[in-house]
Amino acid sequence: MKILIKNGTIVNWGGSEEANVLIEGDKISKITRECPAADRVIDAAGKLVMPGLIDMHVHFRDPGLEYKDDVISGSETAVAGGVTTCLPMANTRPVNDNSSITRAMIAKAKARGLIDLLPIGAISQDCKGAKIVEMGDMLEAGCVAFSDDGLPVTDSSVMRQALEYSAHFGSFVINHSEDCSLCHGGVMNEGKISAILSKGDGERKRGDHDRARSTACQKDGRAHPHRARELGVVAKAHKAG
Ligand SMILES: [Zn+2]
Repeated sequence: MKILIKNGTIVNWGGSEEANVLIEGDKISKITRECPAADRVIDAAGKLVMPGLIDMHVHFRDPGLEYKDDVISGSETAVAGGVTTCLPMANTRPVNDNSSITRAMIAKAKARGLIDLLPIGAISQDCKGAKIVEMGDMLEAGCVAFSDDGLPVTDSSVMRQALEYSAHFGSFVINHSEDCSLCHGGVMNEGKISAILSKGDGERKRGDHDRARSTACQKDGRAHPHRARELGVVAKAHKAG
């Protein structure tokens, strides 16, 4: 079976070009300006033709909170937007903090058969920040990284353990850097006034980067950066190794 995708703009790692794509069986056999014969022709005029996109951070909320989103509708929405691989966070009920939940999530995505689902397991059991999960077991089940999603790990020894264990298994931690003791539900820009009032969350971020550096085993992986100023903190941590 030959499929020709024609008239599209191909976007690849090396740039973009107007060309046609010939697929034979399950492989791309030709990217050409010519128009080879095919069993099926798809007109992609005005469209982008790209490799499947990867969404590093989705909330499928499945199991437990399916009224918000689930693996099936999440898969369908993803492919409609060109995303073929999704990494769902562990903010499910129960939390994805063990291998049986990880396996169930992957099995559901496989049954629908639209995307590759690579779950991000919780860092800590029930995302409570007190005890790390069985990382080796969860990686074996199909998890690729660890995160408590929107919750920070406030206990430094737990965070250090998480960084060391995940690195030991060749994985990594995606951290939500927030100091809840400073936030108190308040919202304001960091500056002179926030310093006077002790608002803002910069200290937690700097602390997490320091820990990552002292364990010397972790590239920066973070969830939910939300201010341009944080880029400076991240850049500084990278520079410091
Ligand atoms: Zn999230």
